[in-house]
Amino acid sequence: MLRSVILAASRSSQVERLVATAPFTRDVVRRFVAGAATDDALRATRGLVDDGLAVTLDHLGEDTVRPEQATATRDEYLRLLKMLGAAGLTPAAEVSVKLSALGQMIDEQLAYDNARAICAAADAAGTTVTLDMEDHTTTDSTLEVLEKLRKDFPSTGAVLQAYLRRTESDCRELSSAGSRVRLCKGAYKEPESVAYQSAREVDKSYVRCMNILMSGDGYPMLATHDPRMIAIGEDRARWFDRGPERFEFQMLYGIRPEEQARLAGEGYTVRTYVPYGDEWYGYLMRRLAERPANLVFFGRSLISK
Ligand code: FAD
Repeated sequence: MLRSVILAASRSSQVERLVATAPFTRDVVRRFVAGAATDDALRATRGLVDDGLAVTLDHLGEDTVRPEQATATRDEYLRLLKMLGAAGLTPAAEVSVKLSALGQMIDEQLAYDNARAICAAADAAGTTVTLDMEDHTTTDSTLEVLEKLRKDFPSTGAVLQAYLRRTESDCRELSSAGSRVRLCKGAYKEPESVAYQSAREVDKSYVRCMNILMSGDGYPMLATHDPRMIAIGEDRARWFDRGPERFEFQMLYGIRPEEQARLAGEGYTVRTYVPYGDEWYGYLMRRLAERPANLVFFGRSLISK
């Protein structure tokens, strides 16, 4: 219930204005977002890489309706990739891209063209791109764009969301050699017709999807903070004899950093998803919806002001 309310608020510009101007917001944003500028992203990346973690960087922004904004997002990724390469942070750092920030809502071809330019820049910098997955109305379009991009850039990664009923079948399609798939539970508010609604059903689906990916020939990227899913992932890695070069764990910046360090210390590949930029509102609200206990953190920041 609370999750639905927060996710509904994540699409409200009125609530956005309220949250953005609240005095406590800065502290909360700082916990989950590396900073506003490209240099902040580079600094956070350097720290994580020095600690033995891999990184995927997300320039925040989504649901773009102006072509010039989509172009500006593309250009920021091109700049970022050049800087990552020059700083020697590739291939440890790659980038995550939302097609809706590249113009998917305006025209799929525009989003493809922008994504293609980013893939070419990543390739030149010696690293990869993963296409984030957004709400279910974009899944087919995103997978179509992925298929086209993979013709020239075969290591472009996909994200599949275990809460969607279709995802087991998508995992089968994408479990072949060369394919990189991030498996997450899913962060959007979705109707029952397309998505499992209970946490138990989503968890069961996550395990079924993980089994398909870990027994397949692709490169699974297990994106979860859930201790049970992580333990099952470790078990499947042993069972399918997957060493640290054949799969990875992924977690978000600011969430369970000790667990990220523990897994890396045990020799697993662990990648931290690092968001940066000004457009943090939708991202932050999804993090609050996942764990309403984070609202307590919000509250504490308010009291301590
Ligand atoms: P949950 O059952 O939500 O949480 C399990 C435990 O993890 C909680 O009990 C808590 O201890 C901890 N935890 C989880 N979330 C938080 C939080 N916000 N704050 C503090 N602790 C928390 N979703 C998409 O729809 N599309 C994407 O492209 C996408 N990319 C992602 C990339 C990465 C690297 C990760 C880690 C997640 C991504 N997600 C994406 C979000 C994902 O779908 C989930 O919403 C999110 O990861 C929470 O699910 P969980 O597996 O951690 O399990």
